[in-house]
Order: sequence, then C-alpha cells, then structure tokens
Amino acid sequence: MANLVHIPEQKEVARKTPIEIFPDPKIAVVLTNQQSGATNVPLVKVGDVVSIGQKIADVQAKVSAPVHSPISGTVIKIDNVYNSCFEYPTEAIYIENDGKKTKAKPLNTIKESELASTKNEELLKIIREAGIVGMGGAGFPTSVKLAVPADKPIKHLLVNGAEGEPYDTADERVMIERTANLVRGVRVVRKLLGNPKVIVVTKESKVEAVPKLQEAFKNEPDTEVRATHLTYQQGDAGMMQKAILGYEPIAGKRSYEMGTIVQNVATINAIANAVFDGEPLISRVAALNGDIPTPKNLMVKIGTPISEILKANSITDCGSVVVGGMMMGVQLATLDAPVTKRTSSILCLNKAHAKARKPTACIHCGRCVSACPIRLQPVAIYNAVIKGDFKKAEKLWAQDCIMCGTCSYVCPANLPLASNVKMARNSQ
Ligand code: SF4
Ligand code: SF4
Repeated sequence: MANLVHIPEQKEVARKTPIEIFPDPKIAVVLTNQQSGATNVPLVKVGDVVSIGQKIADVQAKVSAPVHSPISGTVIKIDNVYNSCFEYPTEAIYIENDGKKTKAKPLNTIKESELASTKNEELLKIIREAGIVGMGGAGFPTSVKLAVPADKPIKHLLVNGAEGEPYDTADERVMIERTANLVRGVRVVRKLLGNPKVIVVTKESKVEAVPKLQEAFKNEPDTEVRATHLTYQQGDAGMMQKAILGYEPIAGKRSYEMGTIVQNVATINAIANAVFDGEPLISRVAALNGDIPTPKNLMVKIGTPISEILKANSITDCGSVVVGGMMMGVQLATLDAPVTKRTSSILCLNKAHAKARKPTACIHCGRCVSACPIRLQPVAIYNAVIKGDFKKAEKLWAQDCIMCGTCSYVCPANLPLASNVKMARNSQ
C-alpha cells in the first residue's frame, strides 16, 4: 500500500461548537434528484400547497429514494438549478414558506420494543419512504444497500465515524449530541443484517465523542467502539475495511459480498429518526467552516439555498464555496445551489486561498503516484483524459478511483488530477 498522506485538519473550533438550528428558508429549493439510481419525477405542480415531510418527488424503481418538502407552503416554480450531487443543473421544486409549519402525516413507525419482531421488509420500507440515502457523500439509497441477499451473510457492520475530511465536523457533533439515537439506529441496521459484529470506528482525536460512544454502546451485544489513528483516506469504506478488518475490497465486488457493510453515522442517525420517530430525511447537520471567523455546525433544512446560509452568517469574502468536504467535495458554480442530503459541509475559501490553486505544468515528480492509496497512476490517467483517450484511462483502472482527492492535494503543479480521474471513472 502507498504511504497514506497526512492531511492536516482544521476542526478545532467547529468540533467544539454545538449544533445550531438554522432558520427555515423563505423559499426552499428542493432538488428532485439527490440520490444515485433512478430519476425521480415531481408529485406536485405549481400552485400546490405542501406540508412539512410531504413526499414531493419519487419514482417506482428498485434503486430509488423519494424527496420530501422541508417546509410548509406553496409550490411556486419547478425549474433547474445547480445540483452539487451531480455537478450540473437539475430539476428543483421551489416552495414558498407560509410560516404555518403544517406537518404531513408522519411515516409508519415502530416502538423500540417491537424491533426484534418487525419484519425486515417493513423496516426497509420505512427507510425507503423516508428518502434515506448515504449521507457521507455517496447518495446510494440506504434501503437498497441494507437489503442484503440471504445467501450473503454479513459478518461485520462498521459504523463509520471517522469523518476524515479535514474541515468536516458534522458527524463528530452527531456522535456527541445524538449518541443515544445512534445506538437506536445501529440496532435497526444490525437487525437488518442478521446481527453481525458491530465495530463503531472513529478517530482517537475526537476526544469528546469517544467516551460518549464507549458509554452509550458498552452494553450492546457483540459491539465495540474502536477509536484509533486513521488517516483521511481511511474514512473511505473500502480503506476502512482494510484498516480495521485487514482485507482490501476486490475490484468489481460490492462490500457485502465480502461480508461487510460500512454505514456512516449521519445515515444511521437518519434511520433512527425515520423508524422510531416517523421523520423523513428533510434536514441534516452540515459544518460551516473554511476561512471564516466562526466555524460552526448547523442543523439545516435540505433545500436551503447556500447563499441564505452565508448571508445569515455575514460571510461575504468567499473566493469559492466547496460543499461536501475540502478533499472530495464540489466547488459550487452558483451560490443559488441548495443544501442536499449529501451536504456534509459548506466551506468558504477566501479569495487568496482560492487563487493559490492555479495550475501550472507537470514537473514529473511522481508524488501523485506514490500518494494514491489504491496505487493508481493519476498523472497517466490525467494525460489520457485531456487527450480524450478514455479507453486508455479505463486500462489504467480509473474506475477504481475512490475520489479521495489526495493526488490533487500533493501535486505541486496544482493540476486537477482527481477531477479528471473522476471524469474518466464516470465515463466507464
Ligand atoms: S482521487 Fe483517485 S487517483 Fe487520486 S489519489 Fe485518490 S484514489 Fe488515487
Ligand atoms: S504530482 Fe503533479 S507534478 Fe508531480 S507527477 Fe503528478 S501530476 Fe506531475
């Protein structure tokens, strides 16, 4: 394995800052597609009045997840807006807030005492109807991920609390402030997977979260909390599997085929909210960090325009705004873009910081090759992509890229290696 590059963190202020509830937006901009899989279609039209938690877009397909209204009000427009999940504009439903906070009928729920006797199909249906997707960034529908075939027994559930992204602290605050809810969520996931061994994986540097997790999980069956040293790259599901269980993912195989499921803590929190409290996924915790005086964590409604969050926090000097992590995230093309189910963080880089990333010519230093955690040749893939030779990129295993961004991070020429490898990966 390559020597894993250490990425310095900038979390000291945000990790100690309790989650703050951000006010509901005046106009929510709810992207109809925030998941990977089938394309949702709107279930509402302009002029319709909607309630908090009402399903507003869905599709009948196996790999899918609906979206819900985060506020009550009137649908005023259906139009395209920049979608950070896909990095291009897609359809969104604009809802004008009526301030009434009218709630839709909650999802079907179960009591905690009923978990053992509840059929897996019923739990998966609640998770699906709640619109839950991987909130660590992948956006894969959770009800599909957890519907593991009966002939593929799961030996380990790794609860991913590593949060390696250097500015992100949302998961850390969830582990500190929603610890008991995580225990409830893990019980649901463990039941769905046939009661495998659970390892709650986090970093020893999360000094407030670790004892809380240890205390909360100490009486859970076949469960341990492992607070260890992990590099940024080991927050990736496959890399974590290798670090904790000792075996690497096999190219082309899903992790469940190797007996492991890795599930992020934010997603597990959402599962508990849905199954026991009837709440669809209409809000999430996102870190607000970067070159700003008061980094913090916000509980924000999905569909809140990023511009509204920046304005409310008096942030005006942004050279660029990156959502979803400094390493793996996306630089926004417009601040009109809304928070999505995958927006783990909103990072504001000042103009000087953004300018420092200007690319120059490759100096053939080889750093990108030695830094790639899965032993790809980022510079060779980059050269293939800029020549439009996607066949060659495929032969160079671009499709195995875990999009960690380390190659771009170490490149002294500031070449956009990771985004080009990602382009090749997405073209396969
Ligand atoms: S982004 Fe892909 S190519 Fe670059 S270091 Fe990470 S895994 Fe390797
Ligand atoms: S790290 Fe950058 S400069 Fe060095 S070989 Fe790779 S692409 Fe070229």
